[in-house]
Amino acid sequence: MVARETNSGDRSHDASKAAPKAHDWILDMAPYVPGRSAVKGVASPVKLSSNESLFGPSPKVIKAVDALGDKVLKYSDPAAKDLRQSIADVHGLDADKIICGTGSGEILSMITHSYAGPGDEVIYSEHGFALYEIQANIVGATGVVVPNKDWAADVDGILEAVTEDTKLVFVDNPNNPTGAYVCWEETKRLHANLPEDVLLVLDGAYAECATAEDYRAGESLVDLYDNVMITRTFSKMYGLAGARVGWAYGPSAVIDVLNRIRLPFNVGLHGQAAATAAVKDQDHLQAARAFTATWRDNMTDGLRDLGLEVVDSQCNFILVGFPQGEHSAKSCYAFLSERGYIVRALPSLPDYLRISIGAAGHNQAVLTLIKEFLGK
Ligand SMILES: *Cc1c(COP(=O)(O)O)cnc(C)c1O
Repeated sequence: MVARETNSGDRSHDASKAAPKAHDWILDMAPYVPGRSAVKGVASPVKLSSNESLFGPSPKVIKAVDALGDKVLKYSDPAAKDLRQSIADVHGLDADKIICGTGSGEILSMITHSYAGPGDEVIYSEHGFALYEIQANIVGATGVVVPNKDWAADVDGILEAVTEDTKLVFVDNPNNPTGAYVCWEETKRLHANLPEDVLLVLDGAYAECATAEDYRAGESLVDLYDNVMITRTFSKMYGLAGARVGWAYGPSAVIDVLNRIRLPFNVGLHGQAAATAAVKDQDHLQAARAFTATWRDNMTDGLRDLGLEVVDSQCNFILVGFPQGEHSAKSCYAFLSERGYIVRALPSLPDYLRISIGAAGHNQAVLTLIKEFLGK
């Protein structure tokens, strides 16, 4: 018998037995932990942990999906033509430079798979969207973590972290989980100082609820340069998280690359119909945006009045800081859970909770409950 190298690492149950083996870097990963959606003993808890829009989707979306009926027996349009054209019309973009995905998460995955691998570096913020790190890990690239500045991405910190091995820079703007944003001048400065062979990905998952006058998602940079793109989603302000639809606008060469690895029919029939109806109903989006901005202000003011730290947010959630001891974030999380309100605890920010803006009654209830929790 020919001697064979055996996997004697501690990941193998029985080193003498051969078995399919994944990449080492995959075995080192832990699965993604989504926002919790259930509480023991509470029949139907209110989930304020995943930044879904409890304002809900446009009624036209429901109609469009209902109208599909038995059309589901056919494959969806592999090119998502109507959807891309509808997005292009609303945003004044070139439809040929748009790609759609099953959530923008799939597009972030396609980008990372296409542009980074073992030996490459991928830069993102310390308190940024968890998917960047996960994607870098999946492809065996090295994640380079840059501390935030004033809760947003630190432009100078990112620029200092760039090396010859840097392939991608991910910036969620506004930032999840902090809600903070990088202003347009700074966004442009970041891009202007990156090497031409580094792709800057501006993740605008919350662009639809950003109201700051000096905020821009960055479409205009895409039209001018070959190394910057934006990603967007229908999961947040459009209220279509379950439909799984996102899109990106990028330079032709990048979109061409992503289309090579995109699986055929990636966005299903229902997702395409729902997102097309949603983007055509900009009145509904504006209503959701106004509702969110109003409650974001109310929640921020209300919690600050109770003496808590609240980070200024441009998103449909707020990041709330709690003191150590009796009134800690951990205790508040448990207090709210027991009363049927699930918020997001963050392993990397143990003294904070991220609370999504809910329906009016939910928001009011959370304010009242936290006041009670603090004994005020
Ligand atoms: C929610 C979110 C996304 C989008 O996720 P989908 O896959 O489109 O549902 C992307 N980036 C950030 C920062 C997010 O918070």
